[in-house]
Amino acid sequence: MLITNHVLAGTLVGVRAPSLPLALGLGLASHFAMDTVPHWGVDDQDEYLRVARIDGLTGLGVSAAVLAAAPAADRVRIAGGIFGACFPDTNQVSAHFFGRTFHPAWFDGFHNVIQTEHGWLRQEVIVAGALSVVVVASLVNRRRG
Ligand SMILES: [Zn+2]
Repeated sequence: MLITNHVLAGTLVGVRAPSLPLALGLGLASHFAMDTVPHWGVDDQDEYLRVARIDGLTGLGVSAAVLAAAPAADRVRIAGGIFGACFPDTNQVSAHFFGRTFHPAWFDGFHNVIQTEHGWLRQEVIVAGALSVVVVASLVNRRRG
């Protein structure tokens, strides 16, 4: 699953979670739940990296935007939800830049075994669009308080 979609899910978790520890834990759970749903992924490393670069930068931008738009009282929980929701995929960044992952083998093994990937990238864009609508509505709702 694209990291941008994990960022959006982590945002929703952070908006609703009553505390930072729950935002972190539920964000992590959301990652694994989303990764069990069949999602985009390819064996072609050039294509994978082309999408991953755009997705990584988009995810960072979305993270910054939702944190800027969120009420101040919600920002730490939302950041926790995003961190938890994105944490499992940090192994990919680490493997790309440093040649190895820093996660325990059992953690990465579990993360890998739940993946079901296909070549239909458009599904990720549809999920991102749907989650974006819900995120914007949730943040507007929180701002109106
Ligand atoms: Zn993942």
